Amino acid sequence: MDIKNSKKNSKGSKDVVDLELKCIVCRTQLYLPVSVAGQVIATVQSGGVAVLLCPYGHVQYLRREQQMYDC
Ligand SMILES: [Zn+2]
Repeated sequence: MDIKNSKKNSKGSKDVVDLELKCIVCRTQLYLPVSVAGQVIATVQSGGVAVLLCPYGHVQYLRREQQMYDC
């Protein structure tokens, strides 16, 4: 049997990328759907700012270089 399975699952809830980031407000782990993760990462890596929304609606701004705090 040689069945090509190129169809994408329209539910796609499993196809998420773990950004290893947490919401700055509520500390919820942030995940991105694979369909947009590539775009977001490309934006950030090209020096742009990507806007993410946590499941509770808090806006995060994602930049390539996060500013370090001077302790
Ligand atoms: Zn949040």
